[in-house]
Amino acid sequence: MRRIYLDHSATAPVHPRVATAVTRYMLTDYGNASSVHSFGREARRALDLAREQVAELIGAEDVREIIFTSGGTESDNLALKGVARASRRRGDHIITSAVEHHAVLHTCKALEKEGFRVTIVGVDSEGRVDPEEVREAVTDDTILISIMLANNEIGTIQPVRKIADIARKMDVVMHTDAVQAAGQIPVNVVDLDVDLMSLSGHKMYGPKGVGVLYVRRKTRIGPTEHGGHHERNLRAGTENVAGIVGLGEACAVTLEELSHREAHLSRLRDRLIEGLLKMDGVQLNGPRRERLPNNVNVNVNGIEGEAMLLNLDAQGIAASSGSACTSGTLEASHVLMACGVEAEQAHGSLRMTLGRDNSQEDMDYVLEVLPGIVKKLRAMSPLA
Ligand SMILES: *Cc1c(COP(=O)(O)O)cnc(C)c1O
Repeated sequence: MRRIYLDHSATAPVHPRVATAVTRYMLTDYGNASSVHSFGREARRALDLAREQVAELIGAEDVREIIFTSGGTESDNLALKGVARASRRRGDHIITSAVEHHAVLHTCKALEKEGFRVTIVGVDSEGRVDPEEVREAVTDDTILISIMLANNEIGTIQPVRKIADIARKMDVVMHTDAVQAAGQIPVNVVDLDVDLMSLSGHKMYGPKGVGVLYVRRKTRIGPTEHGGHHERNLRAGTENVAGIVGLGEACAVTLEELSHREAHLSRLRDRLIEGLLKMDGVQLNGPRRERLPNNVNVNVNGIEGEAMLLNLDAQGIAASSGSACTSGTLEASHVLMACGVEAEQAHGSLRMTLGRDNSQEDMDYVLEVLPGIVKKLRAMSPLA
């Protein structure tokens, strides 16, 4: 059976060049980067190269600003907890948005238990944060603003530069979760003027379990884990050399492919969206423009999203309903709710996130198969 993977925002396949690079540091050059012998020195050299590859992709001025972590979740935790705890004497107030990933929102909840105060700004119907609302939320006690660069469910690209300008003027640290943006659109820390930025390997054709926190020089931040002196004392623990090499290579590949990837994916995205909107009772979630090139998210009225996913899967199409983290639960997506979508409709949401290997034929296959599934499910559904 034909199998089509349309869940790249949950995780993307490793690029072949990444797989090759990783294998060497598992099988041959497997030293601990802290060891003095040749094995260790080779691992250290590999880490140095990976740091340069990441710095180049994101425009960091100094490789020492690149801190390797175990993934996007840890990067978000380190950014928020690391800054909040280090700034406690200056203030106790954090600003974030209602559409952030749970790695940010649940970390904020945990920080509230430590006595910090959190303001969660809302979004418009397309999931966009209004920078003016952020400005109005800033007080003398604000120490940190965390707004994602692109949303993982509906692909909305946020006006991060505008928000960063506000943060800079008010002397507040600015973090952005760029996990979904990296690998899809240009992501440059100088252009964005952010102090902290999270990346994850497996969302950009690198390995799972490895990520980056970009930390601009002189940013007030402390570690969350304690141990050895790795990663400039910000992230203790033996470096995941193979994973880091893979992430570095994924950044190098992205640098080469990005403009082509962006053009290819947005063409497929628009073809799919156009076809979907021709169906009855289908609405687009998120914006038409200023949207990730690989993100398609629609509501299909009168249908339970999970049933749609199972039927698509039976036809070889791997999609998702909202985010991977909320599927399998009966909770409606917090992102769609924040956009003002009714809970009942939000349950009929379908996310398809495209990747570099997808083709026009894949989009056409979805458009061929989906109407039949929708028709069948609507006939069965008490909602219709
Ligand atoms: C996937 C994701 C994360 C978490 O990254 P992991 O590497 O899977 O821990 C954080 N933020 C966003 C926006 C994501 O999509």
